[in-house]
Amino acid sequence: MRASRRVPADRDRSRFGREWDPVTLEEVAVLPVPQGGDPSWALVFPSDYGTGISNLGFHYVFYHLKRLGVGVERFFLSPIPNLSIENHRPLQDFPIITASIAYEPDALNFLQLLRLAGIPLRRRQRDSGEFPLIGAAGAFTSINPAMLLAVADFIVLGDGEPVIPHLVACFRNHQPGAAREKLLRALDQHPSVLVPGLGEEKALDLLGSGVKTGATTPCGQSVGHGIWITPKSAFGETLLLELQRGCTRGCPYCVLPACFSPLRQRPLDRVIETLEECASRVPFGQVGLVTPEAGDYPGLEMLLDRLEELNKGVSFASLRVDNLTRRMVRALRQSGRESLTIAPETGTDRMRLRCGKPFTNREILDKLEMASIEGMKKVKLYFMIGLPAETEDDIVAIAALAEAIRKELRLSVSLSVNAFVPKPGTPWGDRAFVGIAGAERRFRLLKSAISESLGRGCEIRFSSAREADLEYRLSWGGPEMVDWMETLVDKRKRGRSNAI
Ligand code: SF4
Repeated sequence: MRASRRVPADRDRSRFGREWDPVTLEEVAVLPVPQGGDPSWALVFPSDYGTGISNLGFHYVFYHLKRLGVGVERFFLSPIPNLSIENHRPLQDFPIITASIAYEPDALNFLQLLRLAGIPLRRRQRDSGEFPLIGAAGAFTSINPAMLLAVADFIVLGDGEPVIPHLVACFRNHQPGAAREKLLRALDQHPSVLVPGLGEEKALDLLGSGVKTGATTPCGQSVGHGIWITPKSAFGETLLLELQRGCTRGCPYCVLPACFSPLRQRPLDRVIETLEECASRVPFGQVGLVTPEAGDYPGLEMLLDRLEELNKGVSFASLRVDNLTRRMVRALRQSGRESLTIAPETGTDRMRLRCGKPFTNREILDKLEMASIEGMKKVKLYFMIGLPAETEDDIVAIAALAEAIRKELRLSVSLSVNAFVPKPGTPWGDRAFVGIAGAERRFRLLKSAISESLGRGCEIRFSSAREADLEYRLSWGGPEMVDWMETLVDKRKRGRSNAI
């Protein structure tokens, strides 16, 4: 079996020259991570290291596998693809490869990694058992598992934690190479594991009928914090701390309520206990709160008080304006931040209400004035164009809102403008995607609405309309997408690194 062709770790290290060392030397393990283990398992985050190491779900899966004695090693798309971070082993040496796919383009990146490792992308071409068994998990498999049916040997739906013991038991009882058929049947016994090799049509039926459905973890039972702290993470040297999963707000474009329900909150006393335990073990200056909407967490202000007492800074993901409090802004300022990120989504109150965000432009200006008084100097604003029932006025109003923030509050303004991509399972899942030409036309309209004076004091980043189109196709495609994906991966292999 090809996967058993194990190259000794020592030889790898001399041959490949310890390329991962600059990264691993900066990682601090918050919990002890045992060496070695069985079976060998490649855990892939198909994006760059900084993004992958900022993903708490990826930490959890690694740690749970280690706790069960599995020889798991991590892979990222960059800076060094195809070599594990732990022992510099090549991807193709592992009998089991699973990918944590967080976003749609990562699915394509994963195929790129398989191609680099010489592993056929199509599941049927790996039937002989000569190649590793390929699994897929992560947020994307909760949004559109059908897209991976022609690629993955098994797909984990929903949270990984409740499924991991079943996967490990199956791999220990049945060899991925010799007893592949038995192994696939054993994997299929779990209601949150989809096995396309037992029939793609059947897999689609099982999904459609709800027989196979996403697993959920009672959030209070999770580890509750990141396993590594590193300055190379997207958040800098930050301890990831989980507050809650799921969201009850129901913004019609958002996948969270549909795909990651129900809302599960970690009790405040558990969160504080976790924080204190971590602080007693390792040094860190800042905590990154992992939660869909920090302002909805009932114990937030008390947690901020405790962080202040412990002299720890805090970072939030983007904040809802209607939830933003002076206490939250002060916590950010005490953490040395001068920039606030909010998501008004659109320029008019009418359209924002339709988006499930019942706050007005006036309220945005009032909250930002409060933030400015507290010492914030800059605001980053996220917007979408191409929303259902959007008019040109909604788009032009984005420029007017940005101008008002600049003129009235003298804050430095940065706009990030993305095309709306309808997602499966959401209330707006059946609405139209505006397409590449439609998105570009709307971007041009907004650009022309931004006056010269605002343009000089305002950074504007438009997302790529072609990337939005890629995201749309990957969100809705099924197993027939494999031809198209293979063509893209081949183009990238021939040097067109971002072919879409
Ligand atoms: S956009 Fe935010 S508040 Fe709205 S449903 Fe999604 S996570 Fe919840």
